[in-house]
Amino acid sequence: MTNSARGVRPSVAALAAYRPGKSADQANAEHGIDDAIKLASNENPYPPLPAVAEAAAQATVDANRYADHRATALRQRLGKWLDINDERITVGCGSVGLLQQLCLTFVDPGDEVVFPWLSFEAYPVYTKMMSGVPVNPPLVDHAFDMSAVADAVTDDTKMVLLATPNNPTGTAISNDDISALLNRIPDNVIVLVDEAYREFSDQSLGDPVDLVAGHDNLIVSRTFSKAFGLAGLRIGYAVAHPDVVTEMDKTLLAFAVNGAAQAAALSVIEHRADYQPFIDSLLSERARLVDGLTTQGHSIPDPQANFVYLPLGEKTTEAHLSLEQQGVVTRPFPGNGIRVTVGTEAENNRFLSALTQALSVG
Ligand SMILES: *Cc1c(COP(=O)(O)O)cnc(C)c1O
Repeated sequence: MTNSARGVRPSVAALAAYRPGKSADQANAEHGIDDAIKLASNENPYPPLPAVAEAAAQATVDANRYADHRATALRQRLGKWLDINDERITVGCGSVGLLQQLCLTFVDPGDEVVFPWLSFEAYPVYTKMMSGVPVNPPLVDHAFDMSAVADAVTDDTKMVLLATPNNPTGTAISNDDISALLNRIPDNVIVLVDEAYREFSDQSLGDPVDLVAGHDNLIVSRTFSKAFGLAGLRIGYAVAHPDVVTEMDKTLLAFAVNGAAQAAALSVIEHRADYQPFIDSLLSERARLVDGLTTQGHSIPDPQANFVYLPLGEKTTEAHLSLEQQGVVTRPFPGNGIRVTVGTEAENNRFLSALTQALSVG
């Protein structure tokens, strides 16, 4: 190591620096353009409802005080909404915060953490930060191979992480798939079902929260970041056995869930019906993107979230750069594919025509 941070834990020194999706401003500056759009971070193109923004703003009036560390009112409101006892609910600093809490709670050095790969890039980071060992059954046709996941579980496995829909490939698993896994693996293995994109997926796949009462090792996490457009406020929740909630709560950074986020989340729940038209419009835009891509001759995995995944293989890096030079910022997975967030109609049209251009050169 060349820096002067001596004594850094090897697990941290070995981590790559986190690279967030490039902003439109950065792309503009880099490529000398002025109209870049960002379809790289699965953000919602629609701002919070005015009532929700107002609730968040109102909460900053007493920002001189710490907010309720436990987010008690929100836990109770979530319990009513989901029709479960609020002892089974915890609230965290985004679902990434909840993931970090889970790793702090369960992963000791050398513990194996199983997650199919490609999947959410935070999984290897938090596993390795705890000096845990990632175990990665490969995807099959860009989707989870659930029997390979079960086969990957050994006596050393502490946790299984399943994003459904999966980021970045967009495919989803059903409650039957999750039940089958839970029935095949030992019940001391913690299973996280990460439903960050639940609101965009086929609801006939079932509701994993229904399985929590029968499986003390199952944790389901969700977020206000994506369908409800609160990515910048950092708030998510999880449903689990009350004892798991109690232990996870011990690892929550003091006051990490700020008052504006709590107020906004409460307001989202109150106005949740008003979000449906926005979700529906993103779903119909997603369908239009699938049509456009299919017409261009692409074959893509079934998208169940607010993004599409284009498996471009070796052409990924070049296509990503060309798209960016044309002002369309997407998320590349080198050697594998490009993840493109569903945006507004105009943004999606920009992407489709830029893609034709990107793939016609060379
Ligand atoms: C976006 C995303 C999250 C969400 O994160 P927040 O911390 O709630 O903003 C969690 N899991 C996956 C798989 C995601 O893609």
